[in-house]
Amino acid sequence: MSFSKLGLSQPLLDAINKVGYQKPTTIQAKAIPIVLKGSNLIAAAQTGTGKTASFVLPILERLSTGNTERKKRARAIILTPTRELALQVNQSIEAYAQFTSIKSMAMFGGVDYAPQKQALIDGVDIVIATPGRLIDLYGQRAIHFDEVETLVLDEADKMLDMGFIEAINKIIARVPEDAQSLLFSATLSNPVRDLAKSALDNPEEISITKHSASKSNIKQWIITVDKDMKSSLLSHLLQQNQWKQALIFIETKHGAAKLVSQLEKRGIAAEAFHSGRNQKVRQQLIESFKAGEIQFLVATGVAARGIDIENLPAVINYDLPYPADEYVHRIGRTGRADAAGEAVSLVSKDNFKNLCMIESRLGHLLERVEIEGFVPRKPVPISILNYVPKHRREEER
Ligand code: ADP
Ligand code: MG
Repeated sequence: MSFSKLGLSQPLLDAINKVGYQKPTTIQAKAIPIVLKGSNLIAAAQTGTGKTASFVLPILERLSTGNTERKKRARAIILTPTRELALQVNQSIEAYAQFTSIKSMAMFGGVDYAPQKQALIDGVDIVIATPGRLIDLYGQRAIHFDEVETLVLDEADKMLDMGFIEAINKIIARVPEDAQSLLFSATLSNPVRDLAKSALDNPEEISITKHSASKSNIKQWIITVDKDMKSSLLSHLLQQNQWKQALIFIETKHGAAKLVSQLEKRGIAAEAFHSGRNQKVRQQLIESFKAGEIQFLVATGVAARGIDIENLPAVINYDLPYPADEYVHRIGRTGRADAAGEAVSLVSKDNFKNLCMIESRLGHLLERVEIEGFVPRKPVPISILNYVPKHRREEER
């Protein structure tokens, strides 16, 4: 599947190419044709699966014909729960619309009305707004809804959690009845379904359930950090978190031995498990670890592969594994049936491609965290979903 088969025109395909997306995500492949033909849609897919482009691209396509930038009118309204999301969606729109003449603006509370009012007078096509501020400006007659062609409720579950139902209903009641309505959400809870029922006439439905590669009771996240700070960050994590036990994966046996001595210098007892230690020692280490006598085991992926250490409270990828399947296998060692597990990976800039491959394998992005005092000087770039490494891309040509 490629973007060019979805019915998008050249200016949008050029922008997608420039942004660097190689192929549509699952939700994009399914939603774009439905939105393009003008149907109403309710769509659920996990956070980080590319929902924004799945409605923005077809909306841009549909807006590329017709009367644009009409004073105090919007042709598409996108409701989002927060200022940050409104800005983020607007940024995406600006990137995807860069070779078109379509204009957009983000609108949210907590700032002056005047610039927003002026922008509406100057004319925009798409308004991305938090519900409260939009209904406010509507009340002040700064914006009229009579030319709205598409209304999007983005992150609907979050908007409901934040108590926006009243403002949302007011907006729905005021846009033209024949406007296209789209609802996007990470989850389809009952309140979301109720909202969809009242807001969307005869919608098509897409629901993409979690990839089975991610067990739901495992909390996975990554910490971005500079390579040379990883060992002190690990000490910090082991001291801060109340992990009863953790299995720490590292790439090389020398690395394992070195890391254990670095931890020891900071007062943390750990054992190294790698092919450089003899069979008897290794067997003993496994037994002690299973018995809970060893709290932290630093293991190379290769040495740990054949052993059944499971049901751990935490797995730490000190080095990010390769290939992506190895990541899935490792995190599968945490998370008991009855309790939550954690899988944290330390990621530095030079792991970027590997990270993209892991996230593509999972089908979603991993939550990123920065720790105070360990914020990387060399930032890790924004992830690309459906990442295809260069040599494979060339093969596919
Ligand atoms: P969601 O709304 O589902 O949480 P977003 O729309 O915010 O997800 O997208 C998550 C990330 O994925 C963004 O950084 C976005 O740039 C990236 N992304 C979206 N579509 C693609 C694609 N087709 N290929 C690669 N990356 C993509
Ligand atoms: Mg989103």
